[in-house]
Amino acid sequence: MREFEKNIRKVEPYVPGEQPQQKVIKLNTNENPYPPAPGVRAALASMDTDRLRLYPDPSSEILVRELAEFYKVAPSQVFVGVGSDDVLSMCFLTFFNSEKPIFFPDVTYSFYKVWADLYRIPYECQALDGDFRIVKEDYYKENGGVIFPNPNAPTALYEELVVVEDIISHNRDVIVIVDEAYIDFAGRSALELIDKYDNLIVVQTFSKARSMAGMRIGYAIGNPALIKYLNDAKYSFNSYTMNQTALICGAEAVKDKAYFEERIRKIIETREWAKGELRKLGFSFTDSRANFIFATHPEYDAGELFEAMKKEGIYVRFWGSRRIEQYMRITVGTREEMEAMFAFLRKYMKKAEK
Ligand code: PMP
Repeated sequence: MREFEKNIRKVEPYVPGEQPQQKVIKLNTNENPYPPAPGVRAALASMDTDRLRLYPDPSSEILVRELAEFYKVAPSQVFVGVGSDDVLSMCFLTFFNSEKPIFFPDVTYSFYKVWADLYRIPYECQALDGDFRIVKEDYYKENGGVIFPNPNAPTALYEELVVVEDIISHNRDVIVIVDEAYIDFAGRSALELIDKYDNLIVVQTFSKARSMAGMRIGYAIGNPALIKYLNDAKYSFNSYTMNQTALICGAEAVKDKAYFEERIRKIIETREWAKGELRKLGFSFTDSRANFIFATHPEYDAGELFEAMKKEGIYVRFWGSRRIEQYMRITVGTREEMEAMFAFLRKYMKKAEK
C-alpha cells in the first residue's frame, strides 16, 4: 500500500438507480411521469442567457421567497439546495456532530448510512417491526440525532403525525430530521410542527411531486436559528449551490399550485388502481402512501422477476438486501405505462404456469 493511501478518505458510495439512455418504461427511480408545470417551460423559453455571465444570487432569494409564501413560513425558515440529497448532506454535516450515535430505521433510504460514514458520524439502525413500521419507542434512547423519511422509502409507509410528533418530543436535545420526499402523496406534513419544536427540520424535494428531478432542487424548513446554521455551513462549502436556471424554474414551479395538486391527484388515482391490479396477480404490498409500491409475490422470486422485466425494457428497483430480498419497488407511472407492465406480468405468469 502506498503511504498516501492511508490518508485518503475512502467511502463506499451510494448507488443510484439506473438512468438508461435508451427508451424504457422507467419505473425505477420514483420520478414523476408528467412534465413540470407549464410555467417552467415558458421560463426556459424566455431565459436571458446573458445573465449566465454572472454568478447566481447566493441567497437564492426568488426561490426561497416563493417557497416561504407557499408554505406560509418566513424566508428565514427556508434553506435550499441541489436536490434534497444536497440538503440532507448539509444537515448531516451541520447537525450531527455528537459522539453519540444518530438513529435511523434499518430499512430506509440507503444514503443515510453513506453520509454517516462520509462524515464519520456514529449511527445505530433501529429495526422496523415485522410490518415495516417504525417503532417509536426505539427512538426514546439517548442518541446524537434522528432522521427518518415519512413516508419511509422503500417501504412506502406513512406514519401519522402523532407518531412523528412523539419521536420529536422525546428528542428535544438533538435535531430530528423528517425527510418528506414523498409527503405530497401521503398526508399531513411535519411542517405543522415547525413552530412548536425548535429541534425539527423538515426536508422536501422538487424531484417527485413537482416533476423536476432533472433540475435538482430540494429544501429544508425549520426555525430561523437552525436555518442560519445550515446556511453558515453551506457558505463554508460552496456559496453558489443553486444555478440561475434552477432558481427561476423552481420559483415558477411553486407558483402553479393548481397544476401541482392535479398531478398529485392523478398519481394517487393511478397508484390506487395499480394496487388492485397487483392484488389480482397475487402480489402483496404495503399500504403505499408514496408514488411507488413496495411489492412481493409468494410464488415468484423478486430478483428473477426484476431481471425478466428489465429484459422487456420495464425498469423497476430491486436491492436483494436483508429483510427486503423478495421485494421490488415499482414507481407509479402513467396509466399506460402501468398497463404495459401489467400486460407483461400477466404474460410472464401464464408462461410460468405451463
Ligand atoms: N429522500 C428520499 C427518501 C428519497 O427516496 C430520495 C430520492 N432518491 C431523496 C431523499 C433524494 O431526492 P432528491 O435529491 O432528488 O431531492
